[in-house]
Amino acid sequence: MSTQAFGSSGIDQAFGSSGLDQAFGSSDPNGPARDAGWEDSPPRVGFFTDTSICIGCKACEVACKEWNGNPDDGFDLLGSSFDNTGQLSGSTWRHVAFIEQRRPAGTAAGVFLGMPESPARPPVELGMPSLSRPGDSGDTDGRTEFRWLMSSDVCKHCTNAACLDVCPTGALFRTEFGTVVVQDDICNGCGYCVPACPYGVIDRRIGEQGTKNVGLAQKCTLCYDRLKVGQTPACAQACPTQSIQFGTLDELRERAVDRVQTLHDAGVSEARLYGEDPAGGTGGSGAFFLLLDEPEVYGLPPDPVATTADLPRMWKHAGLAAAGFLAAAVTAFAGRRR
Ligand code: SF4
Ligand code: SF4
Ligand code: SF4
Repeated sequence: MSTQAFGSSGIDQAFGSSGLDQAFGSSDPNGPARDAGWEDSPPRVGFFTDTSICIGCKACEVACKEWNGNPDDGFDLLGSSFDNTGQLSGSTWRHVAFIEQRRPAGTAAGVFLGMPESPARPPVELGMPSLSRPGDSGDTDGRTEFRWLMSSDVCKHCTNAACLDVCPTGALFRTEFGTVVVQDDICNGCGYCVPACPYGVIDRRIGEQGTKNVGLAQKCTLCYDRLKVGQTPACAQACPTQSIQFGTLDELRERAVDRVQTLHDAGVSEARLYGEDPAGGTGGSGAFFLLLDEPEVYGLPPDPVATTADLPRMWKHAGLAAAGFLAAAVTAFAGRRR
């Protein structure tokens, strides 16, 4: 026996590279449900969150908690901004980030309606209700050097979902809609999924004994129960500005590209999409975003990669190493008998 027998093509054949890829991720950004074995699955659905028209009302956060019966996180402001939840967690499946950003007056590509304008910074109609901040006088002298960025974050329902790949119990599964859901009655609370998520989304619920689902991995279900009866997810339903748009992924992607173009034409050159690219490290997200600054500003990783992406390659290398050891053992054994 030689290592030739377990050469890389042999390993490919033995383990099936496409089979491994399928086990640890989908190659079709629109077909993860089909890859997961759903026949006649409906079109993949998801969210396009347009942060440029988020007003930070937190209706989405509240609607999510109410619909899912999730516990609150306390009502004290954190001291860093107008925020009491801070981040996504086992109890907070939508989190609206409030980012107070200092920008020297006059350097922005555009100024949003409701903010003081000047010839150098003509107003840009973003589509949200006109607002002005306390203390703004409406003239150039009253202009402050701050702007607000608000963004409602959520599970990305990745095409290549590492949380799902590592779950040993099958509690995490791919639905017929292409979304990723954790089943409370199957999760054993091992927490393997928590470090596997490249976005830091899924987490075990913290709380006192007796708190619903305490200790279990929890995250957005993309309202699987509502989807099954043809309803819109609660957060998207509650959003008053349509910052959270729900629909089929193909349509949302087209809408998002149009929106970026509109903003660029209006002078908001910072507008960019995040997470929609099927060539990205998680194979494209089921929930993607229009941002007005770098992802890091919103607390999002700039270049997330599915933590299980290398597993097929690692299994191949492990197989090759095992084959090498086996071949060496056989050779040594045969040599001693001569
Ligand atoms: S964002 Fe994290 S928790 Fe959500 S599907 Fe992707 S890997 Fe899983
Ligand atoms: S889709 Fe449902 S579970 Fe997910 S954040 Fe929105 S309301 Fe919460
Ligand atoms: S409901 Fe809509 S506008 Fe209000 S915070 Fe959420 S995403 Fe922003």
